Amino acid sequence: FNVPIAVNEPVKSYAPGSPERKAVLEAYDTYFNSKTDVPMYINGKDVTTGNTRTMSPPHDHKHIVGTYHLAEKKHVDEAIATALEARKKWSLMPWEQRAGIFLKAAELVAGPYRAKINAATMIAQSKTVHQAEIDSACELVDFLRFNVQYMTDIYHDQPESTSDAWNRLEYRPLEGFTYAVTPFNFTAIAGNLPACMALMGNVVVWKPSDSQIFSAKVIMDIFEEAGVPAGVINVVFGDPKMITDTVLASPDFSGLHFTGSTYVFKELWKQIGNNIHNYKTYPKIVGETGGKDFIVAHKTADAKQVATAIVRGAFEFQGQKCSAASRAYIAKGIWDDVKKFVIEDLKSFKQGSPADTNNFVTAVIHEGSFDKLAKYIDEAKADAKVEVIAGGNYDKSKGYFIEPTVLLTTDPKYKTMSEELFGPVITIYVYEDDKYSETLKLVDQTSDYALTGAIISKDRYAITEATEALQNCAGNFYINDKPTGAVVGQQPFGGARGSGTNDKAGSALNLLRWVSPRMIKETF
Ligand code: GLU
Repeated sequence: FNVPIAVNEPVKSYAPGSPERKAVLEAYDTYFNSKTDVPMYINGKDVTTGNTRTMSPPHDHKHIVGTYHLAEKKHVDEAIATALEARKKWSLMPWEQRAGIFLKAAELVAGPYRAKINAATMIAQSKTVHQAEIDSACELVDFLRFNVQYMTDIYHDQPESTSDAWNRLEYRPLEGFTYAVTPFNFTAIAGNLPACMALMGNVVVWKPSDSQIFSAKVIMDIFEEAGVPAGVINVVFGDPKMITDTVLASPDFSGLHFTGSTYVFKELWKQIGNNIHNYKTYPKIVGETGGKDFIVAHKTADAKQVATAIVRGAFEFQGQKCSAASRAYIAKGIWDDVKKFVIEDLKSFKQGSPADTNNFVTAVIHEGSFDKLAKYIDEAKADAKVEVIAGGNYDKSKGYFIEPTVLLTTDPKYKTMSEELFGPVITIYVYEDDKYSETLKLVDQTSDYALTGAIISKDRYAITEATEALQNCAGNFYINDKPTGAVVGQQPFGGARGSGTNDKAGSALNLLRWVSPRMIKETF
C-alpha cells in the first residue's frame, strides 16, 4: 500500500496580528519566565539524577531558563540495555506501523507543537522566529514525511524473480543499537538523526548537544506522543567523553549518525577503529561535519544578485550553518557595485534578541564560539593584508553578539579563506577579471572541506567551467543562488572531503545506511 504523498510543510509568515505570531510569542514568554527542568529519557521514563547544569539563552546569558540532568555511566549502560531489549519487538514491527508513528510525529510538529518547538529553538539556540520556523518546524516535518516515503521506496525495490525461484530482499535493521550525536544549530537535524534510524527499525541512544537540550526535550515529547515505544529512542545528556566511551565500548554498537565538528567526527571514527575487534558487526559510520562554503562571482554576474547571496548566505542563521557562505571570490569588474550593495543591505540589519521579531541577526551559540570569532576579527584588524569593510564589532555583556562582518583580503590564502569560523563572518578576495580559471583552481586547492558552493554568472561557458573545476569542492553546488537553504525532498544535503561521508540527509541514500539487508531465495 501507498503512504501519503510527502509535501513540504508551508512556511508561515508570522506577520503582525497573525495567530502563529501570537502563539509563538506566548510560548516564548512562558518558557523564558519559568524554570524548566529537563530530565533524560530512558526506557520511556523521565530520569533525573540530581546532578544538574543550568541553561541560558545565548542572547541573555545571565538569565536562567532551566536545568538539565547529567548522566552517570550507569545511565548510559541502562540506555544501551533498554534499547537492546526494545529491539526484540521493534525490529519485528511491520514497516507501515513504524511509518504511522513518524507520520503522526510530523503532524504533531506541524500542528500542536509548532509554537513550542519554535519557541524552544528561539530560546536555546537564539534563532529568530523565521529561522526557527524554517529550521525546527518545517524542516523537521519535511524530514519525517519524506523519509517515510523514501523508506517505502526502498522496501519496494526488489530483485526479479522467476516462477520457480522467488527472490526477496529484506531490509532489516542493523543488529545491535545505534548512536545519534546531534548538533546545536538545527533542531530539525537533531530530530532527524535518531528518527531516521528508528524509522528503519533500529534502536537508538541519542546524545544531543548541550546547547540544544531545550528543544531536544520538545522533540522527545513529540516522539513519545506519536507512539515511539519505550526503549526505542533513549536520550542521555552530559559529559560527551564518558557517554561516547561507554557507547563505543559496547560490542553491540552498530552505527553512528553524527552531525557536528570535523575534529570530533574524526576522533570518533578513530575510536571506533580502535575498538573494531570488539564489535559483533562492522559499525556503519555516517557524519556531516564542517564546511568552508564559497561563492564565486564571474565578471558577468549581476552585482545585486551577488550581494544578496553574500548577505543571505553568510549572515542568515548568524552564519551558524554548515552550509553558510564564508568565503567569496569576486571579479574585479563588478566588485565596486557588489561592495556598495552589501554595505547598503547591512545598514538595514537589526541585531538583538529573537523575542523582537524585527531583528534579523541574533547571538552566536556560546562564549567559546564568541571568543573564537572575536579573536579572528581582532587578528584580521591587525593584519595589513585584511580590511574590515563592514561590521567588526562584538559585545558579550548581555548576549554573545558578533556583528555581521565582512573582511576583504589581498591574500587568497589568508586563514579565514580556508579555516571554518562558524559565525557571521565572511572573507572576500577580489580577482582580476581575466584570472577566472586560476581562481577556480585556487578554490579547489583551498577546499579542505567540500560541503556547499555557488557560482554566479550570466555566461554559460563560465558556469560550465566552474561546474567541472569545482566538482570535488561541494556536495551541494548552486548555480546563480546562495549556497544555503537546501530543502528536504528537493536538495538532498551533504558533502565530502572534510565535510563528511556525503550520505545525503533527506534521501534514500541516508536511510540505506541503516539497514542490513538479507537476501532470501526460495525455490519451488
Ligand atoms: N541544510 C542546511 C542548508 O542547506 C544546512 C544544514 C547544516 O547547517 O548542517 O542550509
